[in-house]
Amino acid sequence: MSDLLPVPEQDQKGTPTMDLQLRYDQPKQTVAAGGVIFGSPEVIVMAGPCAVESRDSYLACARSLMEMGVRVLRGGAFKPRTSPYSFAGLGREGLKILAEAREATGLAVVTEVLDPRDVELVAAHADILQIGSRNMQNFALLHEVGQGGHLVMLKRGMAATCEEWLLAAEHIRAGGNERIILCERGIRTFETQTRSTLDLSAVPVLKELAPYPVVVDPSHSSGKSELVGAMARAAVAVGADGLLVEVHPDPAHALSDGRQSLDPAQFSELLPELRRVAKAVGRLIRDEERDTRSPGKETQLLKIKQGVANDDY
Ligand code: PEP
Ligand code: MN
Repeated sequence: MSDLLPVPEQDQKGTPTMDLQLRYDQPKQTVAAGGVIFGSPEVIVMAGPCAVESRDSYLACARSLMEMGVRVLRGGAFKPRTSPYSFAGLGREGLKILAEAREATGLAVVTEVLDPRDVELVAAHADILQIGSRNMQNFALLHEVGQGGHLVMLKRGMAATCEEWLLAAEHIRAGGNERIILCERGIRTFETQTRSTLDLSAVPVLKELAPYPVVVDPSHSSGKSELVGAMARAAVAVGADGLLVEVHPDPAHALSDGRQSLDPAQFSELLPELRRVAKAVGRLIRDEERDTRSPGKETQLLKIKQGVANDDY
């Protein structure tokens, strides 16, 4: 790409450079989809169950998340599962439920696309296409989403370096689609207390290196619901532009990832804590109930767009 600078052999002080393959000569970018802007002072909260399991339970969950101030609904219709015998999602039926939830709540929707042939189908039902950890280097899929103009959330491969991750993003960008956000979701290490090790240093590292907004998934990284709150707070403190949190109405009976899912009560207790952390670092997390009652809503949104964090949070 023309705006990628060649890798210099040495930096200005004559010190040999680190092994970076990519240097971006472009400003930080914000990306918008479904009424949400990533990369502004607002930290975008995305939440929902791992998978869409049934119409009624998903719609009820979506409404309660909307009332809490969540900005983007998550839910897998096509689920990549480690075992071929696990629940793999409702497929097209799940997509229809997601679209119905989007219609009912007015919220944006993020969902995973597994197969290059499904990109347009999934994009017709969702605002953000998730490429999951297991597919970070599925080049056919990266090329397909690179051809379209849909916002892509590229999760970090569970054994990928930041550089490999950025090169995966480059496969999307090379096709002409620069509407990319990166999602840190933990990497595999020798540690066994957590499902993965959340690499929070990746947030400032990537924000320094690349123009893309960076969000954090504290659910798949920790694998345990009791750890999610602490890691979510830490993610906001370290500068994440958004959070992707698994929330299930009844985690004990979830068809996937129940162990790491918060229930709605736990999630609603966490949100004010996240708002306080956001405020402490000059960011904000929206409170929908307050916004809709507040006569200053338009001004608040304007301030967000102008890059001014609202001190009311
Ligand atoms: C998910 O978000 O549903 C998911 C499967 O995550 P990951 O790709 O990070 O494992
Ligand atoms: Mn999951």
